[in-house]
Amino acid sequence: MIKTRIAPSPTGDPHVGTIYQALFNRVFAHQNGGKFILRIEDTDRTRFNPESQKRLLEMLDWVGLPADESPTAGGPAGSYIQTERVANHQKYAAQMLSNGTAYRAFDTSAELEERRKIAEAAKASYRGYDRRDRNLTREESDARAASGEPFVIRIKAPLEGEVIVQDRLRGAVVFKASELDDKVLLKADGMPTYHLAAMSDDHDMGVTHVIRAEEWLTSSPIHKLIIEAMGWNEPEWIHTPLLRNPDKSKLSKRKSNTSVESYKEMGITPEALVNYLGMMAYSMPDGRELFGFDDLIEHFTWERVSLGGPVFDLGKLTWLNGRYIREVLSLDEVVSRAKPYLEKAGYDISDTVKLEKVIDALRPRFDVFADVPEKAAYFYRDIVFDDKARNKIEEGRGHLAALLPLLENAAWTWGVLEPIIKGYAESTGAKLGAVMQPIRAALTGKLESPGMGELLEALGKELCLKRIKSATN
Ligand code: GLU
Repeated sequence: MIKTRIAPSPTGDPHVGTIYQALFNRVFAHQNGGKFILRIEDTDRTRFNPESQKRLLEMLDWVGLPADESPTAGGPAGSYIQTERVANHQKYAAQMLSNGTAYRAFDTSAELEERRKIAEAAKASYRGYDRRDRNLTREESDARAASGEPFVIRIKAPLEGEVIVQDRLRGAVVFKASELDDKVLLKADGMPTYHLAAMSDDHDMGVTHVIRAEEWLTSSPIHKLIIEAMGWNEPEWIHTPLLRNPDKSKLSKRKSNTSVESYKEMGITPEALVNYLGMMAYSMPDGRELFGFDDLIEHFTWERVSLGGPVFDLGKLTWLNGRYIREVLSLDEVVSRAKPYLEKAGYDISDTVKLEKVIDALRPRFDVFADVPEKAAYFYRDIVFDDKARNKIEEGRGHLAALLPLLENAAWTWGVLEPIIKGYAESTGAKLGAVMQPIRAALTGKLESPGMGELLEALGKELCLKRIKSATN
């Protein structure tokens, strides 16, 4: 069975890059009747953040990409938390030691640091560990370990030749032996490094396809060496294009907003976020821009993944979100997603008929839900007039005063109100705009607003008359 995984480290805010990886891993697994696994890689205890795991699981649920096997969903290959699997990692490190594909290195970190400094002072590039303990005899190595001397376990990377990793998107990627280092597999405190832990867990969990960000490509030769040393099946390697900042560097929170939670707060819909992340690497065969998880299940192929560095651009995401609000979500959905923002702003939205009219009127005018309270302010709060509106009222005060009695007796639908306003303009010879704009200014405090019919109906008769009246004073 096809099994894919994401293996995030719970170190901070849930990152959009993790959702991006989740999308491709989940689509590919489900397209092939397989399973998508979430494993928490928490062996780096210095950067561990206990809340991060929970928040990440919440965000995967929020975007609709939950894992089939995970710390909360369970599954046949648990535990899905890496630190609970350390005994396995240690067992595999011991096996590599005994089959001669790994060795103990007794250098202390102070010694390694010293050597790095010497290399730097000599302006020689530090080329990683100098492999000095690689040739200790087994007896000496065993004796020093038995005497209690601390050690790490390192992989024996080849000294010559090359390691070739077949990547589904990139073909054969060749790494020269000279580029490889004898990476640490098990640290002196018995904790595994990422390389050993990830490959051990992938093996034990039956992962068949390692789909992950391009930044891990340079680790892949070491991963392949671990797999070969243990005689495990090699997964298929698929290194997806890295999301980038607008300056094309790797997407980072310093230069871009990478926090999934902040997109949720801002009122980006999860459907638009998933669509946007999909667009980063993939284009639909028919060129359509709006697509979701189910469309990807139907159409996704690795052949259509482009390797160009996709730029994660907030403006484009916001634009796409606006399209979801206008073209994809139903009015009911837009209303219910706008509600929490209006409640938070303290608006009284108990009149649901009014709320629906307000949202319907404003829908073409906002791209993220966090903007709704400001856009809806004149429906729920006293109006704040801008200068243009003030001038317009000044110019049209006579029209407003003349219209008021005509409106007072009217039924409050645009079907009734439109002929009254137009008829008034015609009978007085005034231009329609010269009548409409003062009304708009009196009702909203601005000159831009939804259509007059939507505006009048959403505000309701009482409020409209009150505002027009006070503009005539
Ligand atoms: N723990 C790594 C991360 O934080 C996993 C990399 C991999 O997918 O192998 O992304």
